[in-house]
Amino acid sequence: MMNEPEKRGDILSMTKAELEEWMAEAGQKRFRAGQVYEWLHVRHASSFAEMSSLPKALRQELGERFRIASLKVQEVLTSRIDGTQKYLFALEDGNVIESVLMRYSYGLSACISSQAGCRMGCRFCASTIGGRVRDLEAGEMIGQVIMMSRLASERISHVVIMGSGEPLDNYGNLVRFLRIMGDPQGECLSLRDITVSTCGIVPNIRRLADEGLPVTLALSLHAPSQEKRERLMPIAKKYRLPEVMDAMREYYDKTKRRITFEYSCVDGENTSLEDAAMLAGLVRGMNCHINLIPVNPVRERSYRRPDRRKVEAFRDMLEKRGISVTIRREMGRDINGACGQLRRSYLLDSESS
Ligand code: SAH
Repeated sequence: MMNEPEKRGDILSMTKAELEEWMAEAGQKRFRAGQVYEWLHVRHASSFAEMSSLPKALRQELGERFRIASLKVQEVLTSRIDGTQKYLFALEDGNVIESVLMRYSYGLSACISSQAGCRMGCRFCASTIGGRVRDLEAGEMIGQVIMMSRLASERISHVVIMGSGEPLDNYGNLVRFLRIMGDPQGECLSLRDITVSTCGIVPNIRRLADEGLPVTLALSLHAPSQEKRERLMPIAKKYRLPEVMDAMREYYDKTKRRITFEYSCVDGENTSLEDAAMLAGLVRGMNCHINLIPVNPVRERSYRRPDRRKVEAFRDMLEKRGISVTIRREMGRDINGACGQLRRSYLLDSESS
């Protein structure tokens, strides 16, 4: 048999509606799409051959027309403290990406990447150092969830798109991913249990608000003023703070999903009590939650985390003003290379060898 996988589309990237359409065109019954969907997204089948409820001829036809893209585990680190696992996956074209699996009282939460690399340039982030290599296909985002679920022999109940990449810079594939994840015959996640984290791409925040996919939206805020935000995040020059905040308010008004703000605390940059007061003013009246993340030092960057008392004083000041705020619990502290750092060290190692 000829082996030309590049000609066969990845079936994991298809929505159920698309699969139904394909079935109709192929002269098959519509319900076959649901069956295939269940094999892929509930039973996590890795081949068409094992889809035993389908007629053999259909399995063969599917195999000629499609492939089931697979990720390869390149490396896995397991925390001795809380069992958190950090995965380095190789894609079919050899690119590598990072994903993290965390266990909480309410179930397993997967943190996945949306791009190989990133072009947003946030100063403290390791994922952006080599720029963006390429967008991930929807099936490659789903593949991360499927692989981690398979390896844990357990269903994933929550997904956060907070790995490498900017999800709203890969909008089409993100929306496709969300539709597939939310399908009741597929992975069947409640959209409220999926969090999309963005650095603030305003037009796409507005588009997402109209998509009818009410996921939790997290904004990487990181500073309470335009001037300070620009220093940490170059994208802030393009999408200015008042615009970004307006778009977040619109997102809330349309979806009624409580907004999350992520705020990486960087020593000497954004964690003074004046910053806290300004931040409280900025989010006044919004139904939101603030997540404080003491910055993870990145080898290539000189940013440091403030000492714990300073972060706690910052939190207390916000709490006093009636704002819901937590200091992010650090999962897998012992393996917690910063966002994108595992991939980065892998790339450096392969360059030097
Ligand atoms: N592009 C998306 C997802 C990025 S990662 C976004 O910007 O939201 C998820 C969060 O981790 C973001 O808030 C990001 O700014 C933050 N982050 C990245 N590197 C970090 C580091 N070294 N220390 C602390 N937070 C970091």
